[in-house]
Amino acid sequence: MMDFARFSIEGKTAIVTGAGTGLGQAMAVGLAEAGAQIVGVDYIPMNETDQAVSAMGSQFLGIEANLSTTEPLPGIIEAALKRFETVDILVNNAGIIRRHDSIDFTEKDWDDVMNLNLKTVFFFSQAVAKQFLAQATPGKIINIASMLSFQGGIRVPSYTASKSGVMGLTRLLACEWAKHRINVNAIAPGYMATNNTEALRADTARSAEILGRIPAGRWGLPEDLRGPVIFLASAASDYVNGYTIAVDGGWLSR
Ligand code: NAD
Repeated sequence: MMDFARFSIEGKTAIVTGAGTGLGQAMAVGLAEAGAQIVGVDYIPMNETDQAVSAMGSQFLGIEANLSTTEPLPGIIEAALKRFETVDILVNNAGIIRRHDSIDFTEKDWDDVMNLNLKTVFFFSQAVAKQFLAQATPGKIINIASMLSFQGGIRVPSYTASKSGVMGLTRLLACEWAKHRINVNAIAPGYMATNNTEALRADTARSAEILGRIPAGRWGLPEDLRGPVIFLASAASDYVNGYTIAVDGGWLSR
């Protein structure tokens, strides 16, 4: 019989950014289902996530912070350790998108997206990796990439740059830290029904176009990320380093 204990993350502490809604919320609940206690970080209230994590019989610590700068990072690690003693898993999920033609794209729409989607991802990873080394324990870092880590997209230049950067950074950090038993991998969600894609889904023509090329024949749901995130957070993926797993209903295979 297979040893499903390798998928358990019982007693581990997972920090999930952007845990208040959407994919971050679903991944927080998935990790709780597999036994982890959750530190949620967001700048919106996380009551709903708190309730869902608690319903899994797990503990939840919500930390309200704006991750558009690196300033809150030391305080977040400190608060997590005060409550749970170790940090074992980081899911860099918080992300934003700005849509405008590249010809008119502003420096603010460039910087806002790059700061949260790429700069904070790097420095949060660095901060938890330092903690993993101090604990002398293995660690798991899971970045949230995108279809636009693989493809160009249109009208989202800073988003495409940031998510392409996330895939490259995932490889680089995996190469540097694999020797410390730190796994750095990414999940590239396809087209998922969340606030992030509300504008896209409201545009009937674009929405039909997108749906038409998804082999699975439906938009993804936040729950579709639960299995993949548990896999990447658990010992089941100990020899997976630097890889970006598409969870896209077959979009990229088309
Ligand atoms: P969402 O907008 O529903 O959720 C994003 C979360 O991040 C929210 O809870 C938001 O409050 C939080 N957040 C935003 N800015 C923040 C900040 N400055 N500080 C702290 N928290 C902040 O979006 P989502 O669809 O759940 O997206 C989650 C991640 O998945 C993002 O990185 C996104 O780029 C990525 N993604 C989404 C899709 C999709 O189809 N929905 C596809 C590929 C990748």
